[in-house]
Amino acid sequence: IDVVRLRGLGFGYDDRPSVLRDVNLILPHGSFHFLTGPSGAGKSTLLRLMTLGERPQTGRISLFGQDVTQIPRSAIPAMRQRMGVVFQEFRLLDHLSAFDNVALPLRLNGERPRDYVQDVAEMLRWVGLGGRFEALPPSLSGGEKQRLAIARAVITRPRLILADEPTGSVDRAMGEKLMRLFVSLNKLGATILIATHDEDMAERYGAGLLRLEDGYLRQLVPSQRPPEHQ
Ligand code: ADP
Ligand code: ADP
Repeated sequence: IDVVRLRGLGFGYDDRPSVLRDVNLILPHGSFHFLTGPSGAGKSTLLRLMTLGERPQTGRISLFGQDVTQIPRSAIPAMRQRMGVVFQEFRLLDHLSAFDNVALPLRLNGERPRDYVQDVAEMLRWVGLGGRFEALPPSLSGGEKQRLAIARAVITRPRLILADEPTGSVDRAMGEKLMRLFVSLNKLGATILIATHDEDMAERYGAGLLRLEDGYLRQLVPSQRPPEHQ
C-alpha cells in the first residue's frame, strides 16, 4: 500500500499564487525520502498539505489509502494522530513539562501512565533530555526544543513520519544521532519524509531524494531501504 499519494497538487498564497504547480508523489510503505529544494521552494507548504494544515487548490491527496482531499474538519485530528509530525517551529505546549509534552499523544490515545512512563523516560534519555524531564519548553535551548519535538512526534510509533528540517537547530553530532533514530523507525516499518536543504544528507543515508523547484517535484533518487548508518 502507498502511504501517501499526491496527484496534480496545486497550491498558492494570495501574494504567491503558484508555490506548487503540479506535484505528484507516491510514498510507498516503508520508504524513506528527503525533500530538498531552495529556501522558499515550498517544502514547508507541501508538508502542511500532507498534514492537512492547508487544503490544495487543485489535485488530490490520499493518506493510508484514503482520499483526504475533502476530508471534513472534524475528521482531521483522528487522521493526524496516525502521523508523527515534526514542525519547523516545534509547536510544543509551553505550560507542560518536557515529559508531559512527550506523554501527551499517548494520553490522547487513551493509554495509562503506568503503561507509558518507562517509554517516555527512555525516549527522552535517547534524545539527550534525560536531565530535563520537568523543564518547561520556554526554558529549553533551540536544540533541546527540537529534540523534544522529535521525541513527541515518534513516541506513538506512527506509520508515517513527516519532519520539517528536524536537525536544523542541533550540532552535527546530535543531527547524526537524531537521523539514526529516524533510520531505526524506518527499519521498524515507518514511512518517512524529511524536508531539508541539505542534499548531502540523502546521499549519506542512502535514502530517496526529492527536489522541489519552480512548483514541480522531481524524484532524483528512488528510495531504497537505507543501509545501517556507520
Ligand atoms: P520552503 O519550506 O521550501 O522554504 P515555504 O513552503 O515555507 O518554502 O514557502 C514557499 C513560498 O510561500 C515562500 O515564498 C513563502 O514566503 C511563501 N509562504 C509560505 N507560507 C506562507 C503564508 N502562510 N502566507 C503567504 N505566503 C507564504
Ligand atoms: P520555511 O523556513 O520552511 O520557509 P517559513 O519560515 O517561511 O518556513 O514559515 C514559517 C511560518 O511563517 C509558516 O507558518 C508560514 O505559513 C509563515 N510564512 C512564511 N512566509 C510567509 C509569508 N510570505 N507571508 C505570511 N506568512 C508566511
